[in-house]
Amino acid sequence: MENSIKQLLDGIVHPETGEGIVRSGIVEKVTADTEKITVTLRFRKARDPFALKIKNEVAARLRERYPALSDRITVFIREGEAQQPAQPAEKRTTTDRIAHIIAVASGKGGVGKSTVTANLAVTLRNMGYRVGILDADIYGPSQPKMFGAEGYVPDAEHDDATGADYILPADAMDMKLMSIGFFIRPTDALMWRGAMATNALKQLIHQTKWGTLDFLLIDMPPGTGDIHLSIIGELKIDAAVIVSTPQQIAVADVVRGVEMFRNPNVNIPVAGIVENMAWFTPAELPENRYYLFGRGGARAYAEASGTDFLGEIPIIQSVMEGGDAGTPAAATDPLTESYYRSIASKIVDK
Ligand code: ADP
Repeated sequence: MENSIKQLLDGIVHPETGEGIVRSGIVEKVTADTEKITVTLRFRKARDPFALKIKNEVAARLRERYPALSDRITVFIREGEAQQPAQPAEKRTTTDRIAHIIAVASGKGGVGKSTVTANLAVTLRNMGYRVGILDADIYGPSQPKMFGAEGYVPDAEHDDATGADYILPADAMDMKLMSIGFFIRPTDALMWRGAMATNALKQLIHQTKWGTLDFLLIDMPPGTGDIHLSIIGELKIDAAVIVSTPQQIAVADVVRGVEMFRNPNVNIPVAGIVENMAWFTPAELPENRYYLFGRGGARAYAEASGTDFLGEIPIIQSVMEGGDAGTPAAATDPLTESYYRSIASKIVDK
């Protein structure tokens, strides 16, 4: 039985090497009897981004072949980080042809950082630029949803000429979209995400087939932490954009966010601050602006900290709906686009 399982499983290939997972040694152990089946997969590379995809496929094929055992099939993942070969000195990267890399960050989650990233990207695209989005928010990767690409399963491509392996991004309204969300499940524990994220992100950064881009926007995880340092360390980020809401601006998190980029060891220019959810205008009273969370805080903070104020975006129903529907509002609503265009122009000018 074990041999026929191995035969069955070798039909699954690792997208990067194109080799069957038994032949290439990924299937480390198979134990099977009439009661249960246990398969252990060992990935040489730590945090292999395709590990989950392969694990799910192994389970699915076994369930299909042995329906009677379907709830007694277990697949384990192991990683061979201990005997990892040293990194080759020459580092390959697919970011060479990206003109400007911009990190979009926030002190806290929920302030609209992902929404701003998506709408800024659409606006830059509308302005004629070639744009890519890297969703590095390991705690809540929301770009797939913003662009209706949730079901996308990235494939790998091997270039025989250079020997390089690429990961193919999703197409999001003619932009290149890569998200850590394509590789993790919402139910994965946070600690596991943190652990897997660093390595997986490195791969996403350097192996995604970005092609030639004018702008790559990075949807950063909220806050400041190790994961930020590793993203910053991997890439030559040209500028950071900080998103805040009026009520968060006075909070230490925003200051920490700005200071993280300004730290002499990091030294990334802060292009400025975007104030999101700045006011609310009800449809029946289009002339009225209600500053629900206070007014002018972001501008004042920007001035006090020597940072530029890039602009404000009100609470707009279509912005929220656009995010849920898979089409950012800047693509369909001229008023929303106009707010973003003024911010995008300032970023481009810099
Ligand atoms: P973050 O990335 O900072 O966690 P999100 O971009 O996911 O935040 O936004 C949080 C929620 O707020 C989402 O439901 C989003 O649609 C909504 N939202 C963000 N900005 C606006 C806005 N200007 N108007 C209306 N809703 C907004």
